[in-house]
Amino acid sequence: MIFDTHTHYDDEAFEEDRDALISSLSAKNVGLVVNIGASLSSCRETLRMAEKYPFVYGAIGVHPSETAELNEDNFSQLSEMVKHEKCVAVGEIGLDYYWPEPDRETQKLWFKRQLGLARELNLPVVIHSRDAANDTITIMKDMHAEEIGGVIHCFSYTRETAEIFLKMGFYIGIGGVVTFKNARKIKEAVEEIPLERIVLETDCPYLAPVPFRGKRNSSLNIPYVIEEIARIKQVSPNEIEEITWENAHRLYRI
Ligand SMILES: [Zn+2]
Repeated sequence: MIFDTHTHYDDEAFEEDRDALISSLSAKNVGLVVNIGASLSSCRETLRMAEKYPFVYGAIGVHPSETAELNEDNFSQLSEMVKHEKCVAVGEIGLDYYWPEPDRETQKLWFKRQLGLARELNLPVVIHSRDAANDTITIMKDMHAEEIGGVIHCFSYTRETAEIFLKMGFYIGIGGVVTFKNARKIKEAVEEIPLERIVLETDCPYLAPVPFRGKRNSSLNIPYVIEEIARIKQVSPNEIEEITWENAHRLYRI
């Protein structure tokens, strides 16, 4: 069965058919899904969905691009939500320097605070890192992220950088981007990353794989990602599905 480790089914892109789509997943071989919070409101939605569907779990956290909304008051709300019985991780948290806002100091502050929260509650983290490899690694080392564990979602760096995250014990999230023709760097990284450390993700509604690039993504497209990883690793798609299913259970400790 397929384990989609990173979805945003609370997104408005699913307004029309959210229930029908999520309810259809198990019949189409998608056995488990972790919906990822990105803002305080999406965290609340995430928990609502996790309560509704037995096969949906949640990660609770604020995305670097949304950290301007955080303050001490609502951070304590976040800390409460994280204690929900179906919350399996703190995320997505991290640094995104592709966008100029919020400023880097704000992003770094809340990345550290949320890493601290994960440590306190003994939960893994889901890390979003874009155009910010050096600062991400520095903060992770300062905060002893190797004792926290988690996943680098939508991995977009080189194989050398993957090596650093792997040494810290992290899993690497691979999604639709690996199917893009111009994704040479990611394909090379996948070649190097041990299969035992790869987990599957969509980041839906974003990042649909070829042949649906640019369209709305969903967990139903993961077989295209599996096929490409299988081609790179020269093993059967079945094996990819089984091993990543086990990996995701270890990552989220469920
Ligand atoms: Zn995401």
